Amino acid sequence: METFDDFTISKQLQYAIADLGYEKPTPIQVEAFPVIRSGRDVVGIAQTGTGKTFAYMLPILQDLKFSKEIHPRVLILVPTRELAIQTTEEIEKFGKYLNIRVQAIYGGVNMNMQKQMVVQGTDIIVATPGRLYDLVLSRALQLKNIKKLVIDEVDIMLDLGFRFQLTNLFELIPVKRQHILFSATMTEEVDTLIQQFFRNAETITIAVSGTPLANIEQRTYSVPNFYTKVNLLRHLLVDESMEKVLIFVANKRNTDRVYSELESDFMGDIAVIHSNKSQNYRIRAIDNFNAGSVRILVSTDIMSRGLDLDKISHVINMDTPRFAENYMHRIGRTGRAEQEGHAILFYTDREVSFKEDIEALMGMKIPELPFPESVEISKRLLPSEEPVDPNAVDDRQIERNPTKNAGFHEKSLKNQKINLGGSYKRKIEKKYKKPKTRGDKNYNKRNKK
Ligand code: AMP
Repeated sequence: METFDDFTISKQLQYAIADLGYEKPTPIQVEAFPVIRSGRDVVGIAQTGTGKTFAYMLPILQDLKFSKEIHPRVLILVPTRELAIQTTEEIEKFGKYLNIRVQAIYGGVNMNMQKQMVVQGTDIIVATPGRLYDLVLSRALQLKNIKKLVIDEVDIMLDLGFRFQLTNLFELIPVKRQHILFSATMTEEVDTLIQQFFRNAETITIAVSGTPLANIEQRTYSVPNFYTKVNLLRHLLVDESMEKVLIFVANKRNTDRVYSELESDFMGDIAVIHSNKSQNYRIRAIDNFNAGSVRILVSTDIMSRGLDLDKISHVINMDTPRFAENYMHRIGRTGRAEQEGHAILFYTDREVSFKEDIEALMGMKIPELPFPESVEISKRLLPSEEPVDPNAVDDRQIERNPTKNAGFHEKSLKNQKINLGGSYKRKIEKKYKKPKTRGDKNYNKRNKK
């Protein structure tokens, strides 16, 4: 097994590793180190929790020489402000014994402060694309010295609609730069970006495997509807052994619904985050959750993806993700390192097929627990759960959506405008056993060793 002693790293970095208590490198760290140091473009497919931040920072810090230059030499782009703050804090820890300057740049706060900071000179910028672009346009910041460009959580970045800003930024950075990209999944959009800007990139894959960590205990409950799920959730949360609970909800509206239903029961002990909440609110919620003063955090998938939420005891899935990989991402937030984690999945009749997809991916059935008798079955339904009067609709609609009890406003899966991402591509690949798109062909070529 590899240890950090097998890496050629400075004493200063070794001390920092010792302080952080990292005993051995994670697989992505082992794989990324020589490739990033070689100066080649790198595409890393790895999710949060794999140690990917350190995987790209360790070789970068090893090779970053002390400098008094004003203009930064390393640029790290991240999708959210929270991730910008968090990554900056991590880099400060890694570089504790190095004389390096790192600066976070993100929107939603006064730009003048950030301007004043960058004109004093910095080595590493960790930024969200929009604010960075504004700063560059204001001439407070120049990117002409950038030698290494890291784009982290690129799938989320593209999901949030940052493609345009990314392309604009690429135009401003010298062409002779090393690209380092990290994404949890390989989607068509990510692939297009790589094709457009990367040269002969080496791909390192720490795939979202269908094998969940052995130290995550998974359980499931069959629940008739959303508000009964809320009742069950309330019942489970009363148990104080659920020390730090992350609750995933499919969309912002339902996230707010869960929060407002439980707010009075767990006053001061529960917080909510999604992209409509103000930045200050989100930062406070995450800080409180990390510090342990808030025990329960209700979140959408995207919001919690980039965050370093450590030591989560329980992940509760209020809905069953349509894409099995999302389930793997969600439950991966608990049971990190050697700690035991617990993942609980609620599913309704309509979600059975999604649950089966997840179980097929993992090659195991999730043990089901009996629905607790003391939990009230709610008669209240979400608009999307209302039964449909078959007389009120025409045959065409019935044909389009034959699912029992399904609301007609819920489109069939293939008609939904959602990013089907890598998992859909893989399904097609599996079905046809050969690439179906140009992008795929290139992807296969690139991955040929
Ligand atoms: P990341 O995937 O970058 O979000 O990292 C997830 C967590 O793993 C962070 O809290 C890191 O501090 C931690 N971590 C990173 N590398 C190691 C390592 N080699 N050993 C133990 N923990 C690590």
